[in-house]
Amino acid sequence: MMRQALAWRSDAACAQSDVEDVHKFFPSGRPSTAPQQLCARCPVADPCLEFALDSPWPPNAIVAGLTPRELEPLWRERHADAHDEIRSLLGPRWKDER
Ligand code: SF4
Repeated sequence: MMRQALAWRSDAACAQSDVEDVHKFFPSGRPSTAPQQLCARCPVADPCLEFALDSPWPPNAIVAGLTPRELEPLWRERHADAHDEIRSLLGPRWKDER
């Protein structure tokens, strides 16, 4: 089932790019627009974005042309209910690092 759910990955534009391009998806050092250009012509950008936003961790790479900084509020919005639930379970032990 999981394999089928991730079948879109075989059509990912980044999966067919060279290693140097893939490293540019993890922003550090010199900015590059190469990932966004690749994402712009990727046929599976929608499921890629959904997968990243459903992840239990905030994305730390460029996904569907969005930077981690752009993705974080979308990810937080997607997980707001889960965070509220954890906050209510932990009470004062909840450490909100927003
Ligand atoms: S949208 Fe971008 S990050 Fe996502 S699979 Fe396509 S090329 Fe890769």
